[in-house]
Amino acid sequence: MEKVVIIRYAEIHLKGKNRGYFERVFTVNLERSLKGIRHELHRTSGRYLVANFDAERIDEILSRVARVFGVHSYSLGYLVPNNLDDIFSAVKIVAPKTGTFKVDTHRADKKYPLTSMEMNAEMGARILSDNNALKVDVHEPQSHVYIDVRENGTALVFGKFLEGAGGMPVGTSGKGLLLISGGIDSPVAGYMMSKRGMNVEYLHFHSYPYTNEQAKDKVVELARLLSRYALTEKLSTVSVTHIQEEIHAKCAAELNVTLLRRFMFRIAERVAKKKDAKCLITGESLGQVASQTIEGMTSSNAVVTLPVLRPLVGFDKNEIIERSKKIGTYDTSVLPFEDCCTVFLPDFPAIKPKLSFIEEEESKLDIEGLVNEALATLEELRV
Ligand code: ATP
Ligand code: MG
Repeated sequence: MEKVVIIRYAEIHLKGKNRGYFERVFTVNLERSLKGIRHELHRTSGRYLVANFDAERIDEILSRVARVFGVHSYSLGYLVPNNLDDIFSAVKIVAPKTGTFKVDTHRADKKYPLTSMEMNAEMGARILSDNNALKVDVHEPQSHVYIDVRENGTALVFGKFLEGAGGMPVGTSGKGLLLISGGIDSPVAGYMMSKRGMNVEYLHFHSYPYTNEQAKDKVVELARLLSRYALTEKLSTVSVTHIQEEIHAKCAAELNVTLLRRFMFRIAERVAKKKDAKCLITGESLGQVASQTIEGMTSSNAVVTLPVLRPLVGFDKNEIIERSKKIGTYDTSVLPFEDCCTVFLPDFPAIKPKLSFIEEEESKLDIEGLVNEALATLEELRV
């Protein structure tokens, strides 16, 4: 009998001819997520098994598996030869000590001598004669004992299905560049795209010395938290200090945010192309703040040709907060350090800026020069 983590995958089976490719990426991702912990990873039909692992680190293994996209569900259980006595030795461990239970057998091996119903009855009877404090309840059992008879002469025995992260294996949907601030929204936006299989790298704009070192540390920490899901650790930073000073000195105050956003997009697009990223990703949500109107989004889209994905566009703030708590970025996001956007924030930002007005104000600036100057401050780090 061997203790194993059983991993079932999610949408991969939908992918027909591409299935082999999806499974290969998924395997690599599982291996990467378990890096540094002794284990073996085996693939059996429709399942992955983590075996021969460092038993003291089982909690860590489970929480890492829980973050791998493409995992539909997972269980801690036992791998045994498929004869009744071996199956029962595992069933005995998995079965509860008190209360009601139900045995649930799934038979991938259709030639197995017992049907699922017969296996349920056989193991149910054995459990009851082993522990008379237990009762069977097939409708609303307090505990389950699951038996999964595989095709290769083995069976898996476990007590719980734990919910996986869902989604698609990271790396199967191209690469995107996330504009990450220190706020709540953009980390969630990055998570959402990683969940759909996108390889996400991060770009942060700072306004040093108006923003301090701690503000940067906060973003590094957010990127690190995301990398547990995204499996990429690359964070680039660019200074927009001079751009903000120029905008502040020369342009209408109500356009500060709009103009800065356009510079961010221009710079982000250049960085994305260098990294072969196929889109920009932001944490914008329609109507959330003055700059996140359709007019605001249109004005920033107008300066780039790459698509801009806004996975949170239809989310309410409380939905985003809930998700950020779930993925573990919330506590870091709410730490009180200034972001560059708050530094020169106007009292009344333009809600529906007209493109002609934006362009008129922007013509007071050396756009190309400022973009290049900002790009020269590009720093790349691994979180
Ligand atoms: P967040 O919670 O992500 O900071 P927000 O609600 O504060 O979002 P804005 O400040 O309007 O919204 O920013 C909108 C989006 O622009 C962010 O979600 C992010 O993608 C991008 N962005 C804003 N500031 C920065 C920054 N300093 N560096 C990189 N991207 C940024
Ligand atoms: Mg913000």
